[in-house]
Formats: sequence, C-alpha cells, structure tokens
Amino acid sequence: MNCKPINFTGTEMKVELTNLCRDGRCTFCSPLIRPAVVEAGQEVFLQRFTDNLDLYLEGGGRKVILTGGGEPTDAPGKLFGALRQVRERTEELGVELELLAVYTNAVKLLRPIMGCGGQTFLDRLAEMGLKDLNLSVHGLTRKQKVVISGEAMASVDFETLIPAIVRKGIRVMTRTVLADGFIDSIQQIEEFVSWAAGLGVGICYFSDMFQLPVRNEQTTPGSKTVMQWTDDHRTPFDGLIADVRRSNAFVFVSEFTRHNAQGRTFEFRHGESGIRVMFGDLAIGNESEDQATYGYMKPDGSMDVHNNARDANKREFVPLEEMKAYLQMYRPGRGDL
Ligand code: SF4
Repeated sequence: MNCKPINFTGTEMKVELTNLCRDGRCTFCSPLIRPAVVEAGQEVFLQRFTDNLDLYLEGGGRKVILTGGGEPTDAPGKLFGALRQVRERTEELGVELELLAVYTNAVKLLRPIMGCGGQTFLDRLAEMGLKDLNLSVHGLTRKQKVVISGEAMASVDFETLIPAIVRKGIRVMTRTVLADGFIDSIQQIEEFVSWAAGLGVGICYFSDMFQLPVRNEQTTPGSKTVMQWTDDHRTPFDGLIADVRRSNAFVFVSEFTRHNAQGRTFEFRHGESGIRVMFGDLAIGNESEDQATYGYMKPDGSMDVHNNARDANKREFVPLEEMKAYLQMYRPGRGDL
C-alpha cells in the first residue's frame, strides 16, 4: 500500500479472514484459481486488520465485508476479533457503516461455538452488531447442491436458518452461482427467488462465474480441475438477463458497473414479494494499479486496492511449488482438486 491517502468512498473493504474452508466442496471455488497468500496468525492478522480498517474508514469507506479466501466461521478468533475491532473503531471515529456483512457457506451458523456455553455462531454475530449475512446457496434441490457444493452445504436447513437470522434483526442476502445444469434458466431463477422471499431473504444475488482473462501460473496458480469446471459450466449470462427482462415475475430497476467497470450488475424487483434481485458478472485479473477497486485485505494481513495482481512486494504469496501442500492444508478432505 503506498503512502498517498486513498479515497475509499463508495468502495468496499473486502477482508479475506482465512484460506481455510473445512466444509465447502464447491466445484467452482474461485479462491482456488486465484493467487494464494500465506496466512498470518490471529494476533498479527488482527493488528494489521485494525491498521487497515483505520485507513479505510479515514479514506471515507463505509462498507466492510468479512469473507474468504475460505470460510469465515472456520476462523472464529479472526472473525469475532475483526467484528470487535469494527465496533470499537467505528465508535471511536464516530462513523456509521452502511454495510457490515459476513459471507458464509452457512454450515456452522446454528452450531455452538466451541467453549462458549452453547452460544451459536448466529447468536454471537447478532450480539456483535452484524447487519448483513450473505449465504451461499447454489442450487434448488438437494441433489443439485450436493454435486455443486458438497454434502455439508447441501444439508443446511435454510427453512429454519433464514427465519432465525431475520428474527435477530440481521438482513439476509443469498448468493448463487449461475451454472449450466444447476441454476441456469429463468424458471429456476423464478422458483429460487419465490422460495427465498418466502423465508425472509431481502436480496437474491446471482453471479456469473469469474472470467479470468489473464491465465498463467502467476495469476491462476491453483486447481486446474476447478478452472476446467468453471469453463465447462459457464451460462450465457447476457441471454439469461434478457430472459429475466422479459419475465413477468421481475421488474427491471437499473444496470450499473462496479469495481471500476470490471463488473456489471443488473438489478430487478421481484413483482410478487418486492425483494431485490441482482445479477452480476466480473472479469478479474486486469485491475488497474492506481485506482481503488476495493480495499482488499488478504489472509496475510496485507491490504491493496485490488484483488489479483501478484505483486510480491506487497503480499506474501504461497510459492508455486508449495501450491499442492497449500490446497491439502486449506481444503482438507478434498480429493477432487
Ligand atoms: S464455501 Fe465453497 S466457494 Fe466458499 S471457500 Fe468453501 S469451497 Fe470455496
């Protein structure tokens, strides 16, 4: 990060807390095809997080997203430590966040935190002032979910979980990848949105799988299997958007670009329930060096203004010859990589 103050107004601070994901088996898992960074220990990470958060807030940023990398609930010390810092720093600086979100595969939310007298992850997140939960739901049927994201994610009881989150006063957004053979048609989208709206979801977000225009060992060093799956299951995004525009179930609201025009977002209203329905695509790997696409903090504790540039001066990357061991350590039980 250079010394020049950066204007973060309107941009997100995305924080990858950890590389670890114990339960997800996502066939399209994008962290596995992006440059991987070494993971800092909890104490070092949280110290760097606090410093970066100050830079971000003082630069006008008001949207903090705790995400992965991996699965935030698989690093509870970092997750709750970061939320504590957010609460303390925003109070001290007298600023109010527009967004304070955790992106999660949802597997652990209703489970007790080890050593916390039965308190669940959801209980603790609510207690710490979380405003938004972003849940990964990548299919309509159990069969679809097992194939695209594995048994544990397919077993999440959303009919119980989502109303429980809403009762805590936390907004719920679902995040669903558009993939051929899974959620890939206007009929499936309509069915999914009706289901989600009925449970209390406020926003359904459907994402195209990442486009990776630059492909070499430096920019896409991870799993060739994941890369191939992504290429083989990409849906015709623009065609789907045209179908949504024609559908009587949705009302078009707006189209805008995000992340310095590398991504497009299409926003609709669901006619029956009124909830927001968004569709986004994103090409990653071509970020400009001098504009704040994000405040993007990685598990090594470094923050940069974009995601994927492999600048070894700024980030502590996993050496390419150690990628296999990295995948085994941070994706335990995945023989498919
Ligand atoms: S939940 Fe899925 S996409 Fe997210 S880190 Fe785990 S395997 Fe990857």
